[in-house]
Amino acid sequence: MIPFFDLTKQYETIKSEIDDATARVLKSGWFILGPEVSAFEKEFAAYHDVKFASGVGSGTEAIHIALLALGIGAGDEVITVPNTAVATVAAIELTGARAVLCDVRADSMLIDVAQLERAITPRTKAIIPVHLFGQSCDLDPILELARARKIFVLEDCAQAHGATYRGKRVGSYGDIAAYSFYPTKNLGAYGDGGAIITNDAALADRVNLLRQYGWRERYASDIKGMNSRLDELQAAILRVKLRHLDAWNAARCERAALYTELLRAVTPPREMAYGQPVYHLYVVQTPKRQSLISNLNSRSIGTAIQYPLAIHQQAAYTNLGYRDADLPVASRLAREIVSLPLYPELSLGDVRAVANAVNEIA
Ligand SMILES: *Cc1c(COP(=O)(O)O)cnc(C)c1O
Repeated sequence: MIPFFDLTKQYETIKSEIDDATARVLKSGWFILGPEVSAFEKEFAAYHDVKFASGVGSGTEAIHIALLALGIGAGDEVITVPNTAVATVAAIELTGARAVLCDVRADSMLIDVAQLERAITPRTKAIIPVHLFGQSCDLDPILELARARKIFVLEDCAQAHGATYRGKRVGSYGDIAAYSFYPTKNLGAYGDGGAIITNDAALADRVNLLRQYGWRERYASDIKGMNSRLDELQAAILRVKLRHLDAWNAARCERAALYTELLRAVTPPREMAYGQPVYHLYVVQTPKRQSLISNLNSRSIGTAIQYPLAIHQQAAYTNLGYRDADLPVASRLAREIVSLPLYPELSLGDVRAVANAVNEIA
């Protein structure tokens, strides 16, 4: 049996470190915005070689708060892609702004920069490139388009902790970047969590106010804010896991490379030459998706689809007004993609077994 995902194996490998960290927090009696969150923020900023990091309650809230910090709201447009976690678009709409969808490339499955310019209008305030499945978008042309028009770039790094673009980690290129620490992400907490990173001191300051009622001083709101805080337990856990992230990402890449070497019956993910992906997911394309899934599942091999419906195909987002013909690549991908099991603890033997089972559908 090869499950699609197994979080218990990783805990076994770091159990003593995690148990020490959680015991330290429980004994301290300090649970919200304390020393663990501050230390994690410093370490997470240093990991990205950026000046500021702020822990928040989730990846969705990280995107929402980052957009609010950029001053985005009703009447504005924010461009992103149709093949993303619904969180990206939900966060845009929470600000009152309108989400504009730009189709993706068939090879990288990432935002198609050639189409991006056409999606820009005088109301466009920000672009959210999503580094989907652990691979960086082609950031240079996006940044060039955005800077020429004074449009902000918010990187959605929820699936790309540690991925690089032209030698530097994603998240350090845009005006601001958002991370999720949902348990299954490359860097995952044991609960919800998120972070925002930036080099801009004024933006970081607004983020820190927004995440806690607009407080600079306790009980005195400078601006209207909310409650979205990373807690001390999750921060202590994330500090342990951050030390293992590069090794875990390398293990993911090794397994991904073996899949790509062995797979013949499906289109493997395409690695773009400009960076090093971290394979949050290993997503293949095949028009024979149903027989592939049935064959794997009959051998107790888990599969998943990220995501079975593009944003514009979901009932809640018909308001955006797109048909499949407007976004043909993302619409086709929603029908043809399958995610194969991939995590650092998956054995290379299991990778071979999955690849053999996939090749049977050829
Ligand atoms: C997981 C994810 C999010 C949202 O993160 P949560 O912590 O679950 O709110 C946003 N964007 C992408 C691309 C994601 O994969």
